[in-house]
Amino acid sequence: MNRNDLIACHDCDALLRKPRHSAKGSTRCPRCGAMLYRPSAVQLERITALTLAALFTFLIAQAFPIVELDLNGVTSQTTLTGALVALWNEGMELVAVAVFCSTFLFPLIELTALLYVLIPIRAGVVPPGFNLVLRAIQFVRPWGMIEVLMLGILVTIVKMTSLARVIPEAALFAFGALTLMLAVVVLFDPRALWDVADIIKARRARVERMLAPASPHAPSGSTPPQ
Ligand SMILES: [Zn+2]
Repeated sequence: MNRNDLIACHDCDALLRKPRHSAKGSTRCPRCGAMLYRPSAVQLERITALTLAALFTFLIAQAFPIVELDLNGVTSQTTLTGALVALWNEGMELVAVAVFCSTFLFPLIELTALLYVLIPIRAGVVPPGFNLVLRAIQFVRPWGMIEVLMLGILVTIVKMTSLARVIPEAALFAFGALTLMLAVVVLFDPRALWDVADIIKARRARVERMLAPASPHAPSGSTPPQ
């Protein structure tokens, strides 16, 4: 049996024969009942739309002011990036870097990387660097803890009320919405994309074989190569 035809259940490690892909119907592990496959076509559409929406929400969240800083008697509204600069200047460099990575850098990498593979895959093309990008997504995912950090920041900011005040406007609501969207995006298992890529490659190989110049077994209408 081909090694690529086997999969392991991620919950109970049972070794199973890879189910044939069907447009509808999900597959569960016969031993523990864990979900092995969801219908990939429907899932792709949904997750692409959601990822795109999350990216726009992310831009709104970063572009609008979220805190009002009171520094030396001068009050100014600032975005999350501005608040990070203020944190840095206050001597909290480590916190600033950690917050920057988990609320800006890693979510941005994950969203753009997902779109980079999802959009071509939907069109039936495997983009260059596909394997590398999927690995990058798996790598940054555990670090993009935007929801946990948002809570942390809120608590911190509320406690430093003498220094800063949260502005309950566009950016804060965008962050709230983004937290929910990312929670759903994270439910998507990028490993399903390997299977879709396999199907695309197999389909393309079949088409190439069909379009290949006439073979010795070609029908009598065409002239066989000499
Ligand atoms: Zn199982």
